[in-house]
Amino acid sequence: MKWLKNTLNFFFPESCKICQKPLNNNEVLVCSKCLGTLPFIKIHCLKCGNPLDETLKDHLKNNISYCSYCEKQRLYFDKAVVCFFYKPPVSDWINEVKFGKNFSLAYKLGILLRIALKEKIPKVDLIIPLPLSLKRLRERGFNQSFLIAWGFLGKKPSEKILKRIVHTKPQAELSQKERWKNVKNAFLANKAVKGKSILVIDDVMTTGATLNEAAKALKNKGANKVYVVALARSSLT
Ligand SMILES: [Zn+2]
Ligand SMILES: [Zn+2]
Repeated sequence: MKWLKNTLNFFFPESCKICQKPLNNNEVLVCSKCLGTLPFIKIHCLKCGNPLDETLKDHLKNNISYCSYCEKQRLYFDKAVVCFFYKPPVSDWINEVKFGKNFSLAYKLGILLRIALKEKIPKVDLIIPLPLSLKRLRERGFNQSFLIAWGFLGKKPSEKILKRIVHTKPQAELSQKERWKNVKNAFLANKAVKGKSILVIDDVMTTGATLNEAAKALKNKGANKVYVVALARSSLT
């Protein structure tokens, strides 16, 4: 299908989402100049992905890799990596996917995520999206994390590995403490994960409670390593 993409690109070149300039073949969603203006998280906790102050850079060099947040929570995932701060234009794009149903944008964000985090993500056996409950999926009609994971993986990800078996309240309506309780035991993993290393992809990570619970379900079924990746990190207000 590459020839088709190339032919289409020749006649209808894709343009940068920010400056509208036609994109080169190796550029995705935005041109390389605009890519540099995106709100990347540069310094972060090596365990939970929490953005850290620039001044802590030296601590990281000295292998003090955990932040105070990590010490407070029992984390089941081995590592979390988050690409962007939840700020414009990334936050606008996530809303465009969620409320404007721009599926191709979600797919391209997945590709962008893979390229941007290439150096930070270990090789894994399985890449899966964070699932929605069946009820939420029916209400919304699609799972944006599934579309992002599709772009990231370059093919349709499996939906059988991890299921959300409990329909929970939206995390956005809850306080930090309530969020950890709300998602407790919400996931069930397939026994096929035994001995495997798995990467779980989500759109936005806030406290990390949901992704942590997903990691717990995977580890309970014998997953060897669980890494979580989110497109953007928002903070509790
Ligand atoms: Zn541009
Ligand atoms: Zn941390």
